[in-house]
Amino acid sequence: MIKFSNVSKRYSDGTHAVNDLDLEIEDGEIFVLIGPSGCGKTTTLKMMNRLIDVTDGTIFVDGKEISNYDIHELRWEIGYVLQQIALFPHMTIEENIAVVPEMKKWGREKTRSRVDELLKMVGLDPVVYRTRKPDELSGGQQQRIGVARALAADPRLILMDEPFSALDPISREKLQDDILDLQRTIKKTIVFVTHDMQEALKLGDRICIMKEGKIVQVGTAQEIIESP
Ligand code: ADP
Ligand code: ADP
Repeated sequence: MIKFSNVSKRYSDGTHAVNDLDLEIEDGEIFVLIGPSGCGKTTTLKMMNRLIDVTDGTIFVDGKEISNYDIHELRWEIGYVLQQIALFPHMTIEENIAVVPEMKKWGREKTRSRVDELLKMVGLDPVVYRTRKPDELSGGQQQRIGVARALAADPRLILMDEPFSALDPISREKLQDDILDLQRTIKKTIVFVTHDMQEALKLGDRICIMKEGKIVQVGTAQEIIESP
């Protein structure tokens, strides 16, 4: 569904963040980008929803050049989860999820039922959580809201940039398990950035190891473990 063909990104200060990347991500897989800080993972991710533009090369989404997509359409088809989810502190959880523009056209009833459905998907009881404020939630629960919000418009692709790295090990493991369960149910394509090999091996259908803006290796967990 996503194909990078000779993609490079050079920032205006001259930094070569990504160099001549060729990459194919298949429908329905969890594709993990891993590598040390500064190797170009976030840059690669952000080019997939045009948060940043490529300097050279072409990205295709479903065979269509990404530059030919309407940017709004593209953003709706692609959910994005960051390491530190920014929730609006004065708004309830329900309101925080319903900020997604597509939902603004919906009536109150449809919005409520979609919010409830999303909260259940991420393992939070809607009756308890929909009226709470963000500061009444733990870090892990806030990240769940981030995932719920990213799923709200029913995107085909979800980009996750170290979504669990700020969490304690127990919450982190729980969220990893839940993402795997969720993935099996909703069958979305997920591109997941991490610098934690254990996390990569656990979540990735395929893992892409990056170094200095290039791909070192792509393979299944088994292939990565068995390679010399
Ligand atoms: P990673 O996600 O693997 O940590 P990034 O994609 O964030 O790596 O960064 C890759 C390289 O590009 C790094 O050297 C980083 O400092 C640089 N970089 C990232 N964003 C910018 C920017 N907006 N301007 C200039 N350099 C940047
Ligand atoms: P994000 O949270 O979007 O990944 P960061 O927190 O890494 O971004 O960085 C904050 C901002 O600084 C971003 O716009 C990023 O692109 C930019 N940036 C990151 N690294 C560099 C760099 N080496 N030089 C200039 N800008 C950078």
